[in-house]
Amino acid sequence: MSNYQAPMRDMQFLLHEVFEAEQLWQTMPKVAELIDKDTADAILSEGAKLTSEVIAPLNRNSDEQGATWSNGDVTAPDGFVKAYQLYCEGGWGSLSGDPEHGGMGMPKMLQSFVEEMTQSASISFALYPMLTAGASLALSAHASTEMKQTYLENMYSGQWAGTMCLTEPHAGSDLGIMTTKAEALDDGSFSVSGTKIFITGGEQNLTENIIHLVLAKIPGAPEGPRGISMFVVPKFLVNADGSLGARNTVTCGSIEHKMGIKGSATCVMNFDSAKGFLVGEENKGLNYMFTMMNYERLGMGIQGVGAAETSYQQAAEYAIERIQGRSATGVKSADKKADSLIVHPDVRKMLLTMRAFNEGGRCFSTYVAKQLDIVKFSDDDNEKQQAEQLVALLTPVAKAFMTDMAYESCNLGQMVFGGHGYVREWGQEQLVRDVRIAQIYEGTNGIQALDLLGRKVVANKGQFLETYFTEIRAFIEKNNKQQALAGFIKPLAGALEKLKAVTDLIITLQKTDKDMVGASASDYLAAFGLLSYAHMWALMAEKASKQTSDDFYQAKLYVGKFFISRILPRIDSHINALEAGSGSLMLMPESLFNYNY
Ligand SMILES: Cc1cc2nc3c(=O)[nH]c(=O)nc-3n(C[C@H](O)[C@H](O)[C@H](O)COP(=O)(O)OP(=O)(O)OC[C@H]3O[C@@H](n4cnc5c(N)ncnc54)[C@H](O)[C@@H]3O)c2cc1C
Repeated sequence: MSNYQAPMRDMQFLLHEVFEAEQLWQTMPKVAELIDKDTADAILSEGAKLTSEVIAPLNRNSDEQGATWSNGDVTAPDGFVKAYQLYCEGGWGSLSGDPEHGGMGMPKMLQSFVEEMTQSASISFALYPMLTAGASLALSAHASTEMKQTYLENMYSGQWAGTMCLTEPHAGSDLGIMTTKAEALDDGSFSVSGTKIFITGGEQNLTENIIHLVLAKIPGAPEGPRGISMFVVPKFLVNADGSLGARNTVTCGSIEHKMGIKGSATCVMNFDSAKGFLVGEENKGLNYMFTMMNYERLGMGIQGVGAAETSYQQAAEYAIERIQGRSATGVKSADKKADSLIVHPDVRKMLLTMRAFNEGGRCFSTYVAKQLDIVKFSDDDNEKQQAEQLVALLTPVAKAFMTDMAYESCNLGQMVFGGHGYVREWGQEQLVRDVRIAQIYEGTNGIQALDLLGRKVVANKGQFLETYFTEIRAFIEKNNKQQALAGFIKPLAGALEKLKAVTDLIITLQKTDKDMVGASASDYLAAFGLLSYAHMWALMAEKASKQTSDDFYQAKLYVGKFFISRILPRIDSHINALEAGSGSLMLMPESLFNYNY
């Protein structure tokens, strides 16, 4: 079933009304000269067409057929080559790229919607251009001008793809223990040797060249993460005139057989004295890679919302059409043998939960994208500094909370279909399998939670948090007296104070309990995510409450009120759980985990 329609109205509502993008763009000369409201809308509707008409119809077969490996070559599922060509011809790969090297320089707020549409249509397809966009971003930020000139234009155009080669069989979350090594050669290049696993798009038949960004250690480098450098290792070396030269000694040993995203090739990559070129300075590779990883992490959140949006669209349609049982308040469809599923409170709860997460998540990713745009395009140093803090603080939340809620949503979508959700025909079980990975790769959600609480909150004694809280408090104060928003403002203020109090408690307790941060992190991130979505729903309600005559705004308010009354209270259970401290997790001796029942 591939009847995905991009949620254009919601995207336009966020862009033009909630975040007043055009006004913001006017303050950014580099953006203002490129785009206005009409151009943004035209880009969105072209993106909607491509994703629903060309990419979405390929998704089911991509799961059935999968990517295939033979003698080191990888073939993407049927239709991907043609769709990828159309994607590139439309310039979608260059949308937010650096204009000096052939990119279009568009703001992230706009690009994030196109990303969501592509993910909704097919996660497997979306991953190929997504990794290229991330790799181009890292090169654009950290490579020399010569390197940018060699690679970026062809990567933006989609002729060449990019990958991210971090993970090794024994080094996943802990990259500091990686063993891939890079030895300096006389000509200034490096000889890279080692095995990387799980490399998305490491080999494929969509592009003529693949530019691998590889993390490796130069002999004599410091131990741990401080001794990691970044290298460009192209599949085909590039001649001085830009043409393709010799095949490099990097090969794909096999691809993984996976639970989902079967159309995306997940590759074992062997680097056998492959020729590599150092990016930037030695031993700064992990920092450079964070440029790419932060991009991909927000992208993962968007991937989650994309899949959950498709799940919702299909589940809502099914719930209206499927008839089972009668309404508790009396027969609703007397001409039929039963009423529609939509009369049952529990089915409504599932659909409303999905929608509250999807629309809250879309708003949140747009908010984070706005901060990224301020960092990149604003001339105001204060504003930039605040936005940088918000990006650092909110990126792990966008990655982990959005994907956790997306997984819950896709499971609910499957449940709305009952047994029909479990069989292949309706596409729901594929969505559940496909979206699951978003919680795992790009740093597991557990690692994101540690990043949020350990590095972004405790380590700086809540300084970034204060920047975020100050903004939420200002919004609360501005709208305190708005009668129409009363149902949003008070619960938001309550959630804010609860999070503030529990943050202070953790900052104190972790001084004596070294396991406190690890024991609290995932509950803390969940509570933080709920507060953030409450903030987003209040922002949306502020605009929607002014125009209730329209169905769109009415629906916004219904879903927003549902979020506040039925979902936000989850914050208490997360806070109660983490207040219990680390004892219940850490007291049981390790030997008892292996207890032989
Ligand atoms: C389909 C797919 C595509 C991928 N694409 C890429 C790619 O393109 N490039 C790439 O480099 N990698 C890629 N990966 C790898 C992915 O990023 C890693 O699998 C992920 O980061 C986790 O590493 P790991 O599998 O080694 O798990 P581990 O690090 O072994 O973790 C196992 C468990 O322990 C937890 N854990 C680990 N350390 C800690 C700690 N210090 N504190 C608390 N908990 C901890 C983790 O949260 C997890 O639950 C991909 C993986 C898959 C499956």
